[in-house]
Amino acid sequence: MYEVITPGTPVSELKGVGEKTAGKLHELDIRDVNDIIFHLPTSYVDQSVVDLREAEHGSSITVEGTVKTEPKLAFFRRGMSRLTCFMDIDGIYTKVVFFNQPYLKEKLIAGEFARVYGKFDKNKIEMSGQRLIFDTSPGYNVRYSLNRLMHAKTFTKLVREVFDHHHFNHDLPEPLKSKYQLWSLREALYELHFPGSQDRLHHARRTVKFYELYQFQMKLMHKRRAERVRDDHFIIDYDVGKLKRFITTLPFELTGDQKTSVNDICRDFKQNISMHRLLQGDVGSGKTIVAGICVYALRTIGEQSVVMVPTEVLANQHYESFKETFKEELTIERLTGSTSKKEKSRILERLRLGEIDLLIATHAVLEDDVEFNSLSFIIIDEQHRFGVNQRQKLERKSYRKNILYMTATPIPRTLSITAFGDMDVSIIREMPKGRKPVETSWHTFDELDHVMNEVQVQLDDGYSTYVVAPLIEESETLDLKNVNEIYHSFVDRFGTETVEFVHGRMKPEEKNHGMHLFETLEKKILISTTVIEVGINVPNATMMVIFNAERFGLSTLHQLRGRVGRSSRQSYCILVSQPQTENAQLRMEIMTSTSDGFELSERDLEMRGPGDYFGVRQSGLPQFKVADLIEDYRMLEYARKEAISEFEHMEDPI
Ligand code: ADP
Ligand code: MG
Repeated sequence: MYEVITPGTPVSELKGVGEKTAGKLHELDIRDVNDIIFHLPTSYVDQSVVDLREAEHGSSITVEGTVKTEPKLAFFRRGMSRLTCFMDIDGIYTKVVFFNQPYLKEKLIAGEFARVYGKFDKNKIEMSGQRLIFDTSPGYNVRYSLNRLMHAKTFTKLVREVFDHHHFNHDLPEPLKSKYQLWSLREALYELHFPGSQDRLHHARRTVKFYELYQFQMKLMHKRRAERVRDDHFIIDYDVGKLKRFITTLPFELTGDQKTSVNDICRDFKQNISMHRLLQGDVGSGKTIVAGICVYALRTIGEQSVVMVPTEVLANQHYESFKETFKEELTIERLTGSTSKKEKSRILERLRLGEIDLLIATHAVLEDDVEFNSLSFIIIDEQHRFGVNQRQKLERKSYRKNILYMTATPIPRTLSITAFGDMDVSIIREMPKGRKPVETSWHTFDELDHVMNEVQVQLDDGYSTYVVAPLIEESETLDLKNVNEIYHSFVDRFGTETVEFVHGRMKPEEKNHGMHLFETLEKKILISTTVIEVGINVPNATMMVIFNAERFGLSTLHQLRGRVGRSSRQSYCILVSQPQTENAQLRMEIMTSTSDGFELSERDLEMRGPGDYFGVRQSGLPQFKVADLIEDYRMLEYARKEAISEFEHMEDPI
């Protein structure tokens, strides 16, 4: 993974490593001296004994004293056990407890001396013991993950051998070391294996973290350079004058972020590199219009664009909204799985002739018979729902490769500069003028009457309501409200002439019919399972009620909430929930405290950790040994800045 010693001598050539040991090391994925150095300890136990009278509550410490009582052993279910005795530690009569280490009963002998490492509870005067220490040498005890294949002592010997006999010939650049007060890599890595003090360990970790993050960013820069072919073929010399005139005809003033994004994209066009850009913005932030303006730029020189979306519903929605905004200015067609044969051959013909400026399509566009005249701008919506092969297939149809990825899933900054670090990013954070943030509140099921009254208020003013309830079998658990049950309570109150019900188990025609009634405002309340999560646009809806909200993650809740607040009228979201866990309760609190998708995604990331983050899982987040994406995000930003400047320097020596 990392290389600080070249050549990286294979482990089999190390002193004392025979075939057997080499085999075991291979099983641990350790092949050369670098792998040994970077097989870092998993934990450190500070064995320097402290005085219990000075210990802080909750700290993990090593103490020693005399065992006062015969240890008592108790077993519970599944072989779990607890061993308890009392010790005199620095004059304090302390209860000492070990969980699941029953064999220690033989080692703790009343009247004898013992040294214990564990966590101290000052209020209860109790040590929760983790280890009984027999090796009484001072300093740190270091633990490695070795899968019981070899002793830590054997491994430590190998580490020492590498440090003693191999020359480290790679390090962080000197200017960075002095700027950020980092150590040399050799010194830092040595400290991690053979720690001297808490303080030194901290400094060593800082250095190795920075090294990992910097290495990672440098790799991304290389990848990015390899992907950006510089060639005058990529210069798209669109007609600025025409584009400017066109922008003045738009029905509204663009937000600052929209303007910046348009400029970013158009600047990419004029440069001699192929575009590779991510456009991020919450639902309703106005990405469509940004994309459309850039499509118009291409039209001024007679070149084509495509928008590829993952579902038919989204294709229809984009088609309607592009049509609505651009009317006669752009020639737009739509191609999906349900386009008729006749219609399809007509579209394909016009596409080949270059008569279509913009094609909005699902996967159907990937088929071999779809050919463009001069495709130079590819827009991929919700890119995480497409595979690499699909993307490449579309790219091969292009004349000049320029790709804009669009996503309505706000991606926390830390993740976007790691997972998407090889892309340029434009962000629309600012919502169009006149938009009011959705007011969100949280109620329990006992307050259903109150919720109904709120819905009534909207209904009386002529506005529509979404009701979402997860599909749950009646038998599953008593705490959850079945969607049927909820449907009936709404029908009792508002009548079947107002309430429509759609769920995931319906036939598509039935579902579409139900949604249609809601879209055309024939029915003002739509009860559904999560089917409306993607792609339905009813600006008349001003109320969103989500039952059992604790069952949804933050990003889903936010997406659902994004269905309302699509007009200048104040909209509301009511979470009906009885959270059972602290985590679920926190989610409700976050939802009621912010409507900013980016802030929400940062909180989500903190709660769930990056490995789990929606949409990013597939992009292969880096695995670091010491660095942590969330904890060290500031350092990550510095490392990125340094990598970029290092790289620009390499590219442009003068
Ligand atoms: P997104 O694709 O980001 O979810 P849309 O592009 O569909 O958002 O825009 C949502 C709505 O806001 C559309 O009806 C669009 O016409 C409108 N809109 C976009 N930008 C502006 C603006 N700057 N001022 C007013 N309305 C806007
Ligand atoms: Mg959109």
